[in-house]
Amino acid sequence: MTRAIALVDIRTARERIANKIERTPTVLSQSLSDRAGHPIHLKLEHHQTTGAFKLRGASNAIAALSPQERSRGVVAASTGNHGRALAHAAKLEGMRAVICMSRLVPENKLDAIRRLGAEIRIVGNSQDDAQQEVDRLVAEEGLVMLPPFDHPDIIAGQGTLGLEIMEQVPGTASVLVPLSGGGLAAGVAAAVKGVSPATKVIGISMARGAAMKASLDAGRPVQVEELPTLADSLGGGIGLDNQLTFGMCRGLLDDVILLSEDEIAAGIRHAYAEEREIVEGAGAVGIGALLSGKAKANGPAVLILSGRNIDMGLHRRIVCGDPALTERVA
Ligand SMILES: *Cc1c(COP(=O)(O)O)cnc(C)c1O
Repeated sequence: MTRAIALVDIRTARERIANKIERTPTVLSQSLSDRAGHPIHLKLEHHQTTGAFKLRGASNAIAALSPQERSRGVVAASTGNHGRALAHAAKLEGMRAVICMSRLVPENKLDAIRRLGAEIRIVGNSQDDAQQEVDRLVAEEGLVMLPPFDHPDIIAGQGTLGLEIMEQVPGTASVLVPLSGGGLAAGVAAAVKGVSPATKVIGISMARGAAMKASLDAGRPVQVEELPTLADSLGGGIGLDNQLTFGMCRGLLDDVILLSEDEIAAGIRHAYAEEREIVEGAGAVGIGALLSGKAKANGPAVLILSGRNIDMGLHRRIVCGDPALTERVA
């Protein structure tokens, strides 16, 4: 039996974090609805405090700590948004937070975490290198590790987003979820299917280094090469000793779609030009999947815009259609 997070855990999380996070709006996209021939809704989670949904899981995990654990502080490896969320949530509680990250993490994300008052350690070229530093700090300084996705309280916290979607768009036929380590997809799928078993939940990753998709195809967690992508928040592996998200994604996701860099760029551009929303690559994959025709709506659908933490110079080049961008990382 695969261990999994259930609806009751997600409802508990929601009560715990109710006054620590924003309940973000879900709006109808007229332009996407016209194209798809069905109502297409956008869950504007990029307006969450810290600019991404990760504050939900981080707040829930911190709220679940014992007083003794709180006094020791928390540590994590992060490509940015989890680190930012953890720094914010820890600061609210007056706790120490140490964030370890690889050299691939963009400067704007690093600065934001530093400004939130967390200590930063930059180590190696991959999430795995950063994770080794986390393990050292846990062993030598007694810090409590809160990983970005493979943790029951993190998954339950991300799942609160799924509860909101089912209240905001009760009859939704499908939910499109950005997919990396699978904390968001596992939590949202558990909530959505717990409330409405017939609703489809579809994960979307970039084609360049889609670790969960490769693992689902292989039937076990596998490693893939980490490559630069416009959806940088979707980079990184799922962990060869994955405990929860692999099994939950295998059991709960109806499909996984992979996007090219051009299709991700088109999602960012559409969000800006048509919806007047600034989203990062990871947050634009739902729109990109629909625009590309790789995802098809068969009824009302909800796309999760998961984050907005993109370098604004890069964003400007994408919305201006600089072809060098997607060629360089094609
Ligand atoms: C972390 C993140 C994701 C992917 O979440 P997982 O739980 O790792 O699958 C998607 N979008 C944004 C903006 C993120 O920060």
